[in-house]
Amino acid sequence: MESPAETRRYVLPHIARMEGYVPGEQPQGGTFIKLNTNENPYPPSSRVKQALVEAVTDGLRLYPDPSGLAFRKTAAALHGVEPDMILAGNGSDDVLTILTRTFVGPGDLAAFPTPSYLLYSTLISLQDGRAHVVPFDADWRLDLDAFRAPGVRLVYLANPNSPSGTAIAPAEVAALAERLDCPLVVDEAYGDFARENCIALLKDHPNVIVTRSFSKGYSLAGLRLGYLVADAGIVAELNKVKDSYNCDALSLAAGKAALEDQAYLAETRSKILATRSRLADALRQSGRTVTDSQANFVWATGGPAPEATFQELKRRSIFVRLMRYPGYPAGLRISVGTDAEIDRLLEVLRDLP
Ligand SMILES: *Cc1c(COP(=O)(O)O)cnc(C)c1O
Repeated sequence: MESPAETRRYVLPHIARMEGYVPGEQPQGGTFIKLNTNENPYPPSSRVKQALVEAVTDGLRLYPDPSGLAFRKTAAALHGVEPDMILAGNGSDDVLTILTRTFVGPGDLAAFPTPSYLLYSTLISLQDGRAHVVPFDADWRLDLDAFRAPGVRLVYLANPNSPSGTAIAPAEVAALAERLDCPLVVDEAYGDFARENCIALLKDHPNVIVTRSFSKGYSLAGLRLGYLVADAGIVAELNKVKDSYNCDALSLAAGKAALEDQAYLAETRSKILATRSRLADALRQSGRTVTDSQANFVWATGGPAPEATFQELKRRSIFVRLMRYPGYPAGLRISVGTDAEIDRLLEVLRDLP
């Protein structure tokens, strides 16, 4: 058998140099409380199950619609845009990959803030591009001019941001878009939980691209579906880059049904927001600092050492995410679970040394 070094030389140098993205831990089997990757604690809309059953019955023999027109029509109607402004992907991560492949080439610069979603850096490395990293200040604000380095070909902004849960107001996102001579990807994976979103900016800012996920708000992380809303000309270019059948018949049917049940989204959303504020209050009372979250998780720093708390919770089968970013205090990112899950978490936290 060849040694790893023997075969590694076949690999493109920029790939061999890369670390590879490490997703959050997905424990399998057993009983635990999973609050580490921001899944929705409630089941998807019952209409999703019905749509899946129908799609399994008549849909699997043939290839799916390559562009997912029926899905795109539903998404377009929801956002008040045209279907040719929507592109669907195998999760919003696929949409982010398509965007990066379209706009970032070898040696090109792409910008994103830190601390934020770590995948952006991986996607840029896959293209052999270079990252231009803009730091958040201690209050999770950004210096918009700092994104404007010469040669920046794409900017990513998770909004609401992870791990902070904080959001930049649409007017400020518009001000950023106006400063840029490149597309601005507003990653709204958590947009379903936020007070505002940036889709209305598209009208006057053709360089704004908004991405959405079904994994958080719609309880469909296991299905893999996301989409973006952008200028129709941009979408036409992205269509050349995506895999022909990047979304399967089941996810397209389920996603359409999920979007059609906005009443269910509102119901689960309001439960999550209520639990979120209870969780944040309790964590603050325990001496931790908690940001004003607009997402389905909270970010807690300070107080009892986060590393020790993380380990103790894990020992008791409660998974949260310990995150460390150079130059920022370590913290715990805790997904908003059901009331029972959060009660249990708070009970364990109270008993910790
Ligand atoms: C979860 C998440 C995504 C990925 O969502 P998928 O649709 O599951 O691929 C993208 N961006 C951010 C900021 C996220 O937290």
